[in-house]
Amino acid sequence: MSIVVNEPVPRPGILDIAAYVPGKEHAPGVARVFKLSSNETPLGASPKAIEAFKGAADHLEIYPDGQATELRQAIAAVHGLNAANILCGNGSDELLGLLCHVYLGSGDEGIITEHGFLVYKIQIIAAGATPVVVKEKDCRVDVDAILAAVTDRTKIVFIANPGNPTGTYVPVSEIRRLQARLPKNVVLVLDAAYAEYVRRNDYEAGLELVSGSRNVVMTRTFSKAYGLAALRIGWMYAPAAIIDALNRVRGPFNMNAPAIAAGAAAIRDQGFIEKAVEHNNLWLGKLAHAFEAIGLTVTPSVTNFLLIHFPDIDGKRAEDADAFLTSRGYILRAVKGYGFPNALRMTVGSEEANRGVIETLGEFMGRSA
Ligand SMILES: *Cc1c(COP(=O)(O)O)cnc(C)c1O
Repeated sequence: MSIVVNEPVPRPGILDIAAYVPGKEHAPGVARVFKLSSNETPLGASPKAIEAFKGAADHLEIYPDGQATELRQAIAAVHGLNAANILCGNGSDELLGLLCHVYLGSGDEGIITEHGFLVYKIQIIAAGATPVVVKEKDCRVDVDAILAAVTDRTKIVFIANPGNPTGTYVPVSEIRRLQARLPKNVVLVLDAAYAEYVRRNDYEAGLELVSGSRNVVMTRTFSKAYGLAALRIGWMYAPAAIIDALNRVRGPFNMNAPAIAAGAAAIRDQGFIEKAVEHNNLWLGKLAHAFEAIGLTVTPSVTNFLLIHFPDIDGKRAEDADAFLTSRGYILRAVKGYGFPNALRMTVGSEEANRGVIETLGEFMGRSA
C-alpha cells in the first residue's frame, strides 16, 4: 500500500526541532539601547581587521580561496599548530553542524549536557540522531554523568568549555579523565568559544588533547573576544582524519574572502585581544560583586558573561527584571530555554553599560549598589 502525500515532507525529527532564537536586540520605545544579550564584545574589532575587511571589497568578483589558507596559516602561527589540522567554518556553528552530519546518523546518540549550548541539540536531531541529555552538577559539566550515559550508540559528546550560559569551566584534568574513558570511536567536541577570556592555571582549551589523540576536536570562534561576529568565522583543530572527512562534505567556498582577510589580520593583532580581556576580567569581578551586594546570586564565570539568579519572590523574578531592564534600554538574555527559568545572562559591556545595569538592578531590588 502506498500513501499519497501531496507535499514535500522533511525527514523524521526535523519538525521536532525548535529553531534557535538569537538574543533580543530591541527595546520598544527606548532611545538608547545596550545589547548585552549575545556575548558580543563592547570593544568592537581590531582596526587592522576592519582595514583588511575594507581591502577585500575591491575584489568581490573573485571566488575566495576554498582552503582559507591565509587564515589557517595565521591561526597556526599564533597558536603554534600545523595548518593542515585546522579547518575554518562559517562561524563555529557550521563546524558543529558538519561534525554531526559526518559522524551521526539514524540510531546514533549524541551526548549533551543539561545547560549546554542549544546548537548541539539542533544539529544532532538534524542529522537524524538522538540527543541524550545528562545532568550538570551545580552549573558544572559532570564528567561521571557523561561517562554513565555512554552506550554503544554514542558517537559524539559535546562540551562547551567554558559553558554557555553558565560561564563555568571544566579543569583539564577532568577533560583528560573523560577522554581516557570514552570509547575511541566517539568524537569528543570541546567547544572553546570563550577560551580567550579564561585565565586559570587548570584550564586548557584542548590543543594538547587534540594533538595527542584521534577522537578529540576543539572549536573556536572569532565572534566573541575578536569582535567579528558579523563575519561568521570559526575554526576547528582536529586530527587529520576528521579534517579530511569534513572537507569532503563542507561547501567548497564556505569562508568568504572578507572574512578570511579580516580574520587573519585580527588574530595577528594579539595586543588588541589582551586589552579586550583586561577590560572584560576587570568588569566581570566588579559586576559579580555589585550584584551579590544587592542580594542576587551569580554563578562564578570565567567568560564575558554572567548568569544572574533572581529571588523566587513575586515581582522580583527574572522575568520581572528582564522587563524592568528592557524598559531602561538594557537587554539581557532570558535563559529559560537553557533550564534557568529564574535567571538572566548578562554580557559584560562597556563601562557605561555595566554601571547602568548595576544601578538599574539596584533600583529593581530596592537596594542601592
Ligand atoms: C557564541 C558561541 C559559539 C560561537 O558561534 P559562532 O558560530 O562562531 O558565532 C559557539 N559555541 C558557544 C557555546 C557559543 O556561546
